[in-house]
Amino acid sequence: MDLTLELTDEQRALRGMLREFGDAEIAPYAGEWDRSGTFPAATIRQLGQLGVMGLPFPEQYGGVGAGAGTLSMAIALEELARVDSSVAVTVAASVSLGGAPILNFGTEEQKQRWLAPLARGESIGAFASTEPGMGSDVQGLSTTARQSDGGWLINGTKAYITNAGTELSSFVTTTAITGERRPGRAEISTFIVPVDAPGFVPQRPYAKMGWHASDTRELAYQDCRVAPDAMLGERGAGARVFLATLDGGRIGVAAMGVGLARGCLEQSVAWANQRCAFGQPISHYQAVSFELAELKARIEAARGLVFRAAALKDAGKPVTEEAATAKLIASELAVHAANVAMQVHGGYGYMEESAIPRFYRDAKILTIGEGTSEILKLVIARQMGLSV
Ligand SMILES: Cc1cc2nc3c(=O)[nH]c(=O)nc-3n(C[C@H](O)[C@H](O)[C@H](O)COP(=O)(O)OP(=O)(O)OC[C@H]3O[C@@H](n4cnc5c(N)ncnc54)[C@H](O)[C@@H]3O)c2cc1C
Repeated sequence: MDLTLELTDEQRALRGMLREFGDAEIAPYAGEWDRSGTFPAATIRQLGQLGVMGLPFPEQYGGVGAGAGTLSMAIALEELARVDSSVAVTVAASVSLGGAPILNFGTEEQKQRWLAPLARGESIGAFASTEPGMGSDVQGLSTTARQSDGGWLINGTKAYITNAGTELSSFVTTTAITGERRPGRAEISTFIVPVDAPGFVPQRPYAKMGWHASDTRELAYQDCRVAPDAMLGERGAGARVFLATLDGGRIGVAAMGVGLARGCLEQSVAWANQRCAFGQPISHYQAVSFELAELKARIEAARGLVFRAAALKDAGKPVTEEAATAKLIASELAVHAANVAMQVHGGYGYMEESAIPRFYRDAKILTIGEGTSEILKLVIARQMGLSV
């Protein structure tokens, strides 16, 4: 495919707008949200008003339309993660995990009901696949759904689910076994579970290493009753829904990796020019400046992978390998960038009054969520024809 990575005027404007918004409305508060574990509901509502919470949705479902798609979303997530990964993941999970499967597999009625409030930032969505006993092995789930009184009864437990228990949470798209389980294979279907469904019981938020202002919970489904029209896509299509959702989700996480790395770089450059040692700014020393120059080069390379995957997805091409590649490189880069930033900042980088510990703690999950680095290598290896 002929791929031009020239951004449109709208995409450049989006980037500029979110950079200003991030500096003015997120960065000054992100440290406090992180310390207190405050979910920034008002900021998410503001992002809804700015059109960010429905960027890739068509206009009839509340989106901004005009060709805004995965690439615009990637630009937005990079800018948000540059200042705060908790806000970025809340947006990414709502749009890419909550909204995207409904957009791609939902009925007209489901789209009308769930997407417009998401796009306006009045509510957020979630996607629940992981369980206490499985994450990478998506076929290994135990949650079941059986037909009862014309609807479905869901029973099971989901683990580490983002966006399911906040004041804005409206639904959790949930995978469950709907048929007989055969060795290594199960009939998996997907249900849109409203958070007020009887028997849906979000547990207390986890105490996490990072992403403190993002909501992550275990979810109990105790004879959770949903209507017959809660099924998303066809019966048995759960794995297809999940894998398609992951391709887009991984591009979003990769964009967050680029953004976090850029945040680390920008803060490190400012610090290196200002902090003096042995009578000179530390940027005078090649050990410091070359490290930052290399980081800059790797960020540009990672962004290229993210934009390529996003542009291909927007062009309707299969992107399983491209999305996995972008996420693998960008998430590992984010961990490296946080490490570099802490080293360049010296002792101050270890202090919570700087933003660096937050970036350091927020980086690692990017190599785990929506496919660990090992699973991404598995995906890439299989696309290469390797038998692993
Ligand atoms: C903060 C946070 C938010 C999350 N949000 C969500 C969410 O919104 N929705 C959701 O469904 N899930 C969510 N998750 C879950 C996340 O997607 C899983 O943790 C992740 O997919 C890994 O699964 P696991 O934890 O079960 O690890 P496991 O699958 O148990 O893996 C453990 C280790 O074994 C390795 N491994 C496993 N299989 C293989 C293999 N075949 N080859 C090589 N290595 C292998 C893995 O790479 C990893 O290093 C979230 C997790 C966290 C921490």
